Amino acid sequence: AKGRGKNNYQYYNSSLNKRNIRKVTIENALRKALENDELTLAYQPKINLQSRDIDGMEALLRWKNPELGAVSPSEFIPIAEETGQIISIGKWVLKTACKKNKEWHDKGLPKQCVSVNVSVRQFQHSDFVSTVRSILRDTGLRPEYLELEITESIMQNIKESTEVLKGLRNLGVKISLDDFGTGYSSLHILRELPIDTIKIDKSFIDDVADSAKRSMVRTIIDLGLNLDLSVVAEGIENEQQARILSDYHCKFGQGYLFSKPIYERDFEKLLTVRTPL
Ligand code: C2E
Ligand code: CA
Ligand code: CA
Ligand code: CA
Repeated sequence: AKGRGKNNYQYYNSSLNKRNIRKVTIENALRKALENDELTLAYQPKINLQSRDIDGMEALLRWKNPELGAVSPSEFIPIAEETGQIISIGKWVLKTACKKNKEWHDKGLPKQCVSVNVSVRQFQHSDFVSTVRSILRDTGLRPEYLELEITESIMQNIKESTEVLKGLRNLGVKISLDDFGTGYSSLHILRELPIDTIKIDKSFIDDVADSAKRSMVRTIIDLGLNLDLSVVAEGIENEQQARILSDYHCKFGQGYLFSKPIYERDFEKLLTVRTPL
């Protein structure tokens, strides 16, 4: 028993080490990612589930490093949050998305609203509202064409978060509550905070094909509609899901069924041809 205990300890220790090494490697590589131009944005269209027309898009960060290859945002964003690197990266994302959207507007393409993910740490940073204000001013994008996607984790600090949300409201940008239904405070947050959109988490959309489980989705959609919110379903992968959601009066959807996140040139083509997806 003693021997096994020791092995377990060594095993635990070495896997912990591997994880730490990977983390530190990412952290160091990320430090240079901005200056070396390794970051790009992909855009995933948001679809009107009835007409199948594009009605907005979400900007999603992509990182390709010469040594590490493509690193998933689900891996590097939590690290960037922990180290604080998310502040400069987040600014870059906001600026790049707003600039590109304005460029598309100026080209005469159908005007879309761009949704940008905002991490908790970024949101709670003291000058977040003024950062958004100056990015809108510098890029010339009208505020109603920017939506910020936040998560329920901002509820850790409800008083300050309310102030920030009010400040953003005053600027005229829209607020979407991402991954809706996965946290503990979903109902509370809707009652307390000024929100425009809820985005139903993919885990619920996966369940919609299962007749025993789909009532939850219906309840969330009805809740959103009753509160006059825009309701978006994320992670739609098949027609059956799209049809059920549309039958339940969920107006918007995103997912591989319509399009994966694609790079700007391809997205621009999508906007140019204007064919329903
Ligand atoms: P999220 O905001 O919930 O974004 C949705 C994720 O689901 C994206 O993964 C998207 O590519 C993926 N997805 C979309 N449709 C489908 C589908 O039909 N099926 C499946 N299986 N997946 C689908 P991605 O791009 O890897 O991003 C992962 C997470 O990383 C995002 O989750 C978001 O939390 C974070 N993230 C991405 N870009 C940014 C950013 O610029 N800033 C911040 N703070 N977070 C970001
Ligand atoms: Ca999102
Ligand atoms: Ca989401
Ligand atoms: Ca999600």
